[in-house]
Amino acid sequence: MAGALSMRRVYVATTPLDAYLLRDLLSHAGIEAQVFNEFARGALGDIPLDAAQPQLWVDDEDQQRAESLVREFSARRAVAGTLSCPHCGEENPDSFELCWKCGGGL
Ligand SMILES: [Zn+2]
Repeated sequence: MAGALSMRRVYVATTPLDAYLLRDLLSHAGIEAQVFNEFARGALGDIPLDAAQPQLWVDDEDQQRAESLVREFSARRAVAGTLSCPHCGEENPDSFELCWKCGGGL
């Protein structure tokens, strides 16, 4: 069995919610991940920023599978921030009200 000394960081989250969403996703895939720094607020002085953010660690042996799930998770996140134009099908940021390509209402 892998111990704590062979863990790998697979994700640095911008919010604790992100970290827990991803932990659940990994857990459904049979990967046990641990969230560190969930309460960090960047108030830890001289610790580098990415070390003070919520992050997910998994066992060494789960690293590759976890990283591919992290990529899927990030890709879905990116897609969720876009709208498809009902007129021409072009992808637009969801903050747009008019399609950048055809000018139709979104
Ligand atoms: Zn359009």
